Amino acid sequence: MNIPLPIRSMDQAELRNKRVLVRVDLNVPMQDGQVTDTTRLMRVAPTLIRLAECGARVIVLSHFGRPKGLESRYSLRVLQRPLAQALVREVAFASDCVGRPAEGAIRNLPVGGVLLLENLRFHEGEEKNDAGFAKQLAALGDVFVSDAFSAAHRAHASTVGLAKYLPAYAGPLMEEEIDALHKSVDAPTRPLAAVIGGAKVSTKLKVIENLLEKVDVLLIGGAMANTFLLAQGLKIGSSLGEPDLVPTAERILHQAEGKNCRVLLPNDAVIADKLEPGVASRLVRIDAVPERAMILDVGPSSIANYLQQIQTVRSLVWNGPLGAFEIAPFDEGSVALARGVADYTRAGALISVAGGGDTVALLNQAGVTQDFTYVSTAGGAFLEYLEGASLPGVECLRQKPSDV
Ligand code: ADP
Ligand code: MG
Repeated sequence: MNIPLPIRSMDQAELRNKRVLVRVDLNVPMQDGQVTDTTRLMRVAPTLIRLAECGARVIVLSHFGRPKGLESRYSLRVLQRPLAQALVREVAFASDCVGRPAEGAIRNLPVGGVLLLENLRFHEGEEKNDAGFAKQLAALGDVFVSDAFSAAHRAHASTVGLAKYLPAYAGPLMEEEIDALHKSVDAPTRPLAAVIGGAKVSTKLKVIENLLEKVDVLLIGGAMANTFLLAQGLKIGSSLGEPDLVPTAERILHQAEGKNCRVLLPNDAVIADKLEPGVASRLVRIDAVPERAMILDVGPSSIANYLQQIQTVRSLVWNGPLGAFEIAPFDEGSVALARGVADYTRAGALISVAGGGDTVALLNQAGVTQDFTYVSTAGGAFLEYLEGASLPGVECLRQKPSDV
């Protein structure tokens, strides 16, 4: 196996008096011009404060939403004030991320000052990783700090391009995320278990296949389990399932057997006629799902089995809820598992890492996010990491053989 070269860390960089271009993820959820969840701002604040206190001139780069060209409703200006509040210091704003507005604002930026540049995606060169655009950005700074792991699966000008033209370093959040994922997926304390849930096998096929190579125990839940149940000859009624993928599910189960990877599927289910608030639900054994019923959650016996398995391992990776957790009571299975994992982690018996958009929402709903060893908010980049893909925004931060 090739051991990857180490990541260059921001701590190694000379930052005093330097113009530091720092790529962060300010793609926060907004409603009616108000930030509805400040998690991302709070998480990135320590990086920016640290840079400012090092005596850098801090130039903040981010995308925001998916504008098609310049669409003012995607302006980052609305974040100037929330960012200033999170940093407890002044934040200047430049109405364009390159050219005169940016250059002028940077000239006025004192040592230790913070400047937010307008949405990178207002320029199409950003997502195209256009060399000309990357050079325009690079001309604004002396050093590039990349601290947006959540954007690292995309080769954009601000995630990869800049590293060609400026000395490039990983920020603390980037390092923390790479470290947590490396420790839980690639170099785990064994035995290692994975919990994979969610709606579809098709969207997680690469994740399952990659994890199969790495884990000792695989716990499958969510609607995704339905396709595996079909592969075992069970009936799933009118549940969400992917009959086309039954052969794939069979192959996965067969491969797991060959690798001595234990696979657990639910042995009971919470069913209802439809997925709606207030609908009547009941618990059935997994071999007794009626024709017109939908499996909407795993039952308590399945959860007990999963937790029993988890007690035998030292590390756990989790992506995907085990049921339609957005609607009560179909969150109960996922919440119970989340609390169990949180308990073992708090007791020091388990290293637990979780991620995925809905999984993070679920853990927040269960009130256990703080109890997990690490919860990744990186969404797509987290999933690509679980797929075993190499992330261009991480690779460009590795030391070059010439650095060593
Ligand atoms: P993540 O965003 O964490 O990667 P996914 O998007 O893969 O997770 O899966 C979450 C979705 O799966 C949720 O919307 C949830 O309602 C749905 N889901 C899970 N189990 C079921 C089920 N049994 N029936 C219908 N939907 C389900
Ligand atoms: Mg999702």
